[in-house]
Amino acid sequence: MTTFLTGWGRTAPTPATLARPRSVEHLSELVAAAAGGRGVVARGLGRSYGDAAQNAGGLVLDCTGLDTWTQDEASGLVTASGGVSLHDLMTALVPRGWFVPVSPGTRHVTVGGAIAADVHGKNHHRDSSFGAHVRSLTLVTADGTVRTLHPGDPLFRATVGGMGLTGVIAEATFACVPVETALMRVDVQRTADLDETLATMEATDDRYRYTVAWIDLLAQGSRMGRSVLTRGDHLPRDDGKESPAFAPGASLRAPAWVPGGLLNRVSVRAFNEVWYRKAPRRKTIVQGIAPFFHPLDFVEGWNRVYGPRGFVQYQFVVPFGAEDTLRDIVGSLSAHGTVSFLTVLKRFGPGSGGLLSFPMPGWTLALDIPVGQRGLDGLLRGFDRRVADVGGRVYLAKDSRLRADMMAAMYPELERWRRIKDEADPAGLFRSDLARRLRL
Ligand SMILES: Cc1cc2nc3c(=O)[nH]c(=O)nc-3n(C[C@H](O)[C@H](O)[C@H](O)COP(=O)(O)OP(=O)(O)OC[C@H]3O[C@@H](n4cnc5c(N)ncnc54)[C@H](O)[C@@H]3O)c2cc1C
Repeated sequence: MTTFLTGWGRTAPTPATLARPRSVEHLSELVAAAAGGRGVVARGLGRSYGDAAQNAGGLVLDCTGLDTWTQDEASGLVTASGGVSLHDLMTALVPRGWFVPVSPGTRHVTVGGAIAADVHGKNHHRDSSFGAHVRSLTLVTADGTVRTLHPGDPLFRATVGGMGLTGVIAEATFACVPVETALMRVDVQRTADLDETLATMEATDDRYRYTVAWIDLLAQGSRMGRSVLTRGDHLPRDDGKESPAFAPGASLRAPAWVPGGLLNRVSVRAFNEVWYRKAPRRKTIVQGIAPFFHPLDFVEGWNRVYGPRGFVQYQFVVPFGAEDTLRDIVGSLSAHGTVSFLTVLKRFGPGSGGLLSFPMPGWTLALDIPVGQRGLDGLLRGFDRRVADVGGRVYLAKDSRLRADMMAAMYPELERWRRIKDEADPAGLFRSDLARRLRL
């Protein structure tokens, strides 16, 4: 079936033949039969923002039909097919006293997508990214064979963060985190400017498993970089709170069509002002898992709110010591008046060892920007260069606009990754729009 596919940002649709494997055998047959064509790439729930899970004129394998999993009750180890969603896992695991090792800002992602992008969560400073918790995985490679890989294998390191370009992840076994309730104890704190934000995060992050800062990007002058910090831990059972079941559902649905320009400087400035002022200066609250980790999941199809032209997400990381670059970028965005509905800052800890993984020790900033703002393209291109110059990088799972000539500077293990990819896939069967754009 030919279908036009986009990423979550809804930009740059391209047509592909979409097939839905029903079993690992079926998956192997589809991959082997794709030889000689326009290539193939796996797709999970399509939550990457750009063109990573698209393959113009080729084959895209919708892996969501591969959806079985089991858990070893004693160790907590989960073995799940590549298409199992973190939402389904959490729904079943939390009442049993377990949580996934890493959750991104939406739980509607698959295990395959979480490993291929080596996703990070609010606990990166403590627990690294998803790939660091994977004990083994099975990969359907270009000739249709199923290979079992372990963390020491070069192909494992090329697959974690490899954006689906080494093969299709059929199954993975990974560790989970024991939890006693479906609740979080959360400290909320307002900061007055970027320096206070950075200093507070640096001084207190290690006291919490999960931390993140929401930044008011439109605040300027002495208020530039003012933030609301949320830092939390799973609530122990003996805290006296009644633990509700983990049963999150989307409670709102975004309208099917929203005019462009709804999110403009005026509306976002007003929202930011209210959001900042509404946050307590300092307070400890108890929250459910879903509102703490996945507030956006409450509005089904919220990506349509950005209007028909869609939006780009820009996420970069700069190493510790490059705080001036971070300050300059936040300052430039504020001065430019960039409309970003959501701007979040995090401190990353050690990486997982994935050769193309995004996270590295340092500061990461993510912005959601509606397409069409004047001067934006040039601004972001300048940031790409500045980020690369200090040894930082842009996140491929969020990207739709980076240029190929930036890749080697941002990802120093790129050549090593290419050699491993070429060995496993000599004809370059695994391809995506992102891979063509970035010459991966
Ligand atoms: C609201 C929102 C918040 C987010 N927050 C975060 C965050 O906090 N941290 C973070 O790291 N990311 C975040 N993301 C990005 C998201 O976690 C990643 O893009 C993730 O990869 C999406 O998973 P998916 O199953 O939808 O994969 P898709 O988007 O369908 O695919 C993503 C990549 O994975 C590959 N892939 C998918 N399945 C397989 C498979 N079985 N085998 C091999 N390759 C496969 C695809 O080829 C593609 O390259 C967020 C996204 C959204 C929409």
